This record gives sequence, structure tokens and C-alpha cells, in this order.
Amino acid sequence: MLTLPTFRFAPSPNGRLHLGHAYSALLNHALAKTNGGRMLLRIEDIDTTRCTPAFEAGIYEDLHWLGVEWDGEVRRQSEHFAEYEQALSRLIKEELVYPAFMSRGEIRAFIAASEGGDRKWPRDPDGVPLYPALDKTLSPKERRKRLADGMPFAWRLDVEAAVARIGRSLTWAEYSNEALSEIRVVDAQPQAWGDVILARREIPTSYHLSVVVDDALQGISHVVRGMDLYFATGIQRLLQELLGLPQPHYFHHRLVLGPDGRKLSKSQQDTGLADLRQAGITPAEAKRLAGFNSSGAPVPP
Ligand code: GLU
Repeated sequence: MLTLPTFRFAPSPNGRLHLGHAYSALLNHALAKTNGGRMLLRIEDIDTTRCTPAFEAGIYEDLHWLGVEWDGEVRRQSEHFAEYEQALSRLIKEELVYPAFMSRGEIRAFIAASEGGDRKWPRDPDGVPLYPALDKTLSPKERRKRLADGMPFAWRLDVEAAVARIGRSLTWAEYSNEALSEIRVVDAQPQAWGDVILARREIPTSYHLSVVVDDALQGISHVVRGMDLYFATGIQRLLQELLGLPQPHYFHHRLVLGPDGRKLSKSQQDTGLADLRQAGITPAEAKRLAGFNSSGAPVPP
């Protein structure tokens, strides 16, 4: 069966879209077109406390305004918790995840007590201290007792055990440019993230788990997203291998920076698409501001 190149734009409706999202959406849209493929839209709303229907409606409004169309139905992650739970159960059964009981405060206190002088607790690629993983060594009896007592916990991936289970080093295929004309192999290094959370009490899944499940279920062949998610690919590759999912090709594009040279955030009003629209900016001007030329191609940085 011939499979079409399949791209996706996967925003979270926890704020309004800004020029950085516009770049990502426009690039996926343009690549789907030039490669004779499809572009899907996925709403990543697993955090049902921060994501709102109003922000979701804003995404459609902004994409329509930009002229970005997508193929098929929108996939809304909050409607698929059962699928993520199925993937999690498999990892639980295979003893590759464990219930982690340390609260945020306990983690902070433990790390503060372990650091001092030149001793620095290891951090993940985002600069967040790795989970101390003390409860990995709990006796089965103590673990059972805590669970029976209803002690709050999160499911964390035992990254060392997971890497050992795969038994070989992992890589991913990364395109070198917007035209997707060259590709290179990158070492995945999932251990850099430590024992990441895969599901918690309030949210029965996590970004990493739901993204790999959905990319596979939706037949995504090309993951094109911002450079800020480059290193996250390492842990996502590990999850793909553990769950027997295919690996897409990746391209992590440049980020649109604000006037201060920093990454845009959803709280920055001046680059929000709705604000630009209200200020009288046309879609063509917004595309130019996001980094596209008048024929719809990304302008090299
Ligand atoms: N939902 C993520 C975001 O809005 C993007 C996830 C991805 O592209 O893998 O940053």
C-alpha cells in the first residue's frame, strides 16, 4: 500500500497562538503540499485544567486566518485517554515503569541536601533536576502498602531498565534543512532525561507518552516541530521502541524569536496572532513576520 507523507501540527490550547506557532503550522502545511502529502491537526489538550475550549476555538480561528488547512478530522487528545492508558499498562506489565511517591517538595529538599560546593545534581536537557528515583528500590511489600494506603504517586519510566531492555543505542533521522533535502543520524541519549513521568493522578498520561502513541496511530511519517523539542526526541524514540511503534523522520525547525532575542511564549501579547490581527496586520504580513516569503516558502535565517 502506498502511504502518503504525513505531517502534523500539534498545538496545545493553553494560550493563543503566536508567530512561532504560525511558522510551524505554515511549514508543515507547505511541506505537505510540496511532498504531495497530508497535514493533520492534533489538539494536545491532556492538561484539562490549563487547556480550554476557547483557546481551541482560537487555534481554528488563527489557522483559518493564516490560510492553513488540514486534512481529515482533528484529533483531540483528551478524547483518547484510554489509548494512552493501554500503552502505559503494557509498560507496567513489563516492569519498565514504577510508582514514584516523592512529592515536588520532597524532590526539591532531597536535591538541595545533595548539592553543595562543586556537587551539582544532574539536570535534564531543559535544565530540570533529574528525579532522584529513591523509590525505585522500594521493597515490593512497601510499594504494595503505599498503593493500598492510597498514597499519591506518578508512573515514571525506569529509563535505565528501558535502555537495557532495548539493548542497543538508539538514533533518529533528522533533516538538516527546511527543504528536507538532507538527513543525518542523531544519537538519541534518552538517559539524559532520567526517569520521566509517563502518567500522573490528575493527568493519566503525559506529553511524551501521548505524542508517540498519536504519531503512530495517525501514521505520521514526518514530525516537523520547533527546535525546543529536539532533545525530547531522545526519550520519544525510546518509548517508540518499547511500544513497538514505527519511527518517523524528524525536522526541528528554528524558533521565531521575540524582539529581545528570546523564545516567544504564549503570555507575550505582541506576537500573538489574534493581537496582530486586531492591530490591522494582514495574513500576508503575518506570514512575512513569521519568516515566509510571498510565495509561501520559508526564508532561510
Ligand atoms: N503540543 C506541543 C506544543 O504545543 C507540540 C508537540 C510536538 O510537536 O511534538 O509545544
